[in-house]
Amino acid sequence: MGLNVLVAGGAGYVGAHVCKALARAGHHPVVLDSLAHGHREAVRWGPLVEADIADRAAVGRAIGSHRIDAVMHFAAWIFVGESMTSPLKYFANNLGGSLALLDAAMAAGVRRVVFSSTAAVYGEPRQVPIPESHPTEPINPYGESKLMVERVLRWLDRQQGLRFAALRYFNASGADPDAEIGERHDPETHLVPLAILAALGKAPALNIFGDDYDTPDGTAIRDYIHVADLAGAHVAALEHLAAGGASLTLNLGGGSGTSVREIVDAVARVGGRPVPASFAPRRPGDPPRLVADIAAARAALAWSPRHSDIDTIVRTAWAWHTRG
Ligand code: UDP
Repeated sequence: MGLNVLVAGGAGYVGAHVCKALARAGHHPVVLDSLAHGHREAVRWGPLVEADIADRAAVGRAIGSHRIDAVMHFAAWIFVGESMTSPLKYFANNLGGSLALLDAAMAAGVRRVVFSSTAAVYGEPRQVPIPESHPTEPINPYGESKLMVERVLRWLDRQQGLRFAALRYFNASGADPDAEIGERHDPETHLVPLAILAALGKAPALNIFGDDYDTPDGTAIRDYIHVADLAGAHVAALEHLAAGGASLTLNLGGGSGTSVREIVDAVARVGGRPVPASFAPRRPGDPPRLVADIAAARAALAWSPRHSDIDTIVRTAWAWHTRG
């Protein structure tokens, strides 16, 4: 039959890939996006409702007219640095907007929510790989705003029968293997697209933030997960909730660590041209090593990453950036 799914933020990077995966699995995504950062042309697998998540009336109308069964929520400001200089902007949109969206969903009787959370809820890692039981001590308003929404979801579960999946992403990366959609942020701050754009001469030389970390090659280690693997986990989480499953809070990563230098080398290898790069000081707040423990997601969702090796991530991202 397929579920009617309201995808808030479905015109953005992860949201659009999830819409494609939903449609492939026989579901019906309805995108709700203000297009403040999302891209109209990324909405290809269902209708677009152009509205802000804070517009409770518009959300309510969309839920009613499309007979929505579940909500997936990707709509958020995502720049950690900006959240440090404009905290209220992040709390207003990421928390306040989420409250309005959840209020409209609850009022319309929707009791299934998949929420886009982040590894930034953990703060400085005390152990690596990081399990979901790790303390949550965000070190920026972005991570705090996401953790606050997780807490709200937990109360709605306890008190009002909401069932949710809070999915804590590590480094989302790569592009649709068919090159229909890819990563395009403005401003772009993420390593993989910046390295590709530098190699293509479309961005300045890459700054490698720190070569003096206590890691094998001195650069920082992150856990890169292909956006198609992320999308697959979202569909599995939705189907788990739709089948009556309990709420979940899960890490989503590839489950292994890759250094900045290894990413740069992979871009040069895949692209067949050098990546202009130089070393720069560490970026404040960047820990040396962040890697997800993904055992819980594997077990709860019968899921495992299939596209998250670095060559596949870089190859699909390169193909999207150089598409005709
Ligand atoms: N990074 C870098 N140069 C850049 C952007 C990022 O060296 O221009 C590094 C960053 O310090 C981190 C890794 O690449 O160690 C991944 O950063 P990104 O911003 O892509 O994601 P984050 O880990 O901050 O969520």
